Amino acid sequence: GGTIRFENVSFAYDPERPILKGVSFEAPAGKTIAIVGPSGAGKSTISRLLYRFYDVGSGRITIDGQDIRRVTQESLRGAIGMVPQDTVLFNDTVRYNVRYGRWDASDAEVEEAARLAQIDGFIRTMPKGYETEVGERGLKLSGGEKQRVAIARTILKAPPILILDEATSALDSATEMEIQDALESVARGRTTLVIAHRLSTVVAADEILVLEAGRVAERGTHAELLEKG
Ligand code: ADP
Ligand code: ADP
Repeated sequence: GGTIRFENVSFAYDPERPILKGVSFEAPAGKTIAIVGPSGAGKSTISRLLYRFYDVGSGRITIDGQDIRRVTQESLRGAIGMVPQDTVLFNDTVRYNVRYGRWDASDAEVEEAARLAQIDGFIRTMPKGYETEVGERGLKLSGGEKQRVAIARTILKAPPILILDEATSALDSATEMEIQDALESVARGRTTLVIAHRLSTVVAADEILVLEAGRVAERGTHAELLEKG
């Protein structure tokens, strides 16, 4: 399972300003669909609608034929692993953040996910600088470190559906390449929605959608899109 369909989806945060204007696509079970396009085109909005941070204005989103509004939030979000651009961590240890949603995971599984996401050096510490002041023992995590915590959580969760929204954007290029490999191995066989700025980073996707001003302007494989220019 895990086939995602967007059927003529429109959405606006503010009724005066439509963001998505009749977006349709299918991400077949096990395939990787990439969404590329300029900043502000509405790419992240697509991921937020799929995760039901917001509901569609019109049209519908289905997973395996079922409207996501008819699924409990717990089961919807249980089926999806999301690595957002800006990760907000829970006010607890890094380890708690990684195990979130996979409380049954063994120590060995947690350690393996931490190793792959390169956070094993600070998994026992408490991130600092959130709502609650945790004192001098806390560690202030950088954007890239927080992103790696979200990646470790997703590797551990290994859900049927992955949303990778500029998932490695905060990492330096050497780390990015290594962690990209770990993400690709989790994505294998799972329905994956990859959101990216540039076409060059999504060469291996089964289909790429080019989103411009809330509409799908082009679609095809990487080779097909290059041919179209
Ligand atoms: P992209 O991911 O393609 O850069 P987004 O989906 O993040 O685009 O945003 C599309 C548009 O929606 C942008 O103009 C952005 O300013 C606006 N937007 C995003 N989030 C909100 C929000 N919570 N409230 C109002 N406008 C928003
Ligand atoms: P539940 O449906 O069990 O209440 P949430 O919807 O709050 O769970 O969270 C589901 C997923 O969303 C988590 O696995 C996590 O990836 C992400 N998430 C939501 N809120 C936060 C947060 N405050 N900090 C970190 N991750 C969060």
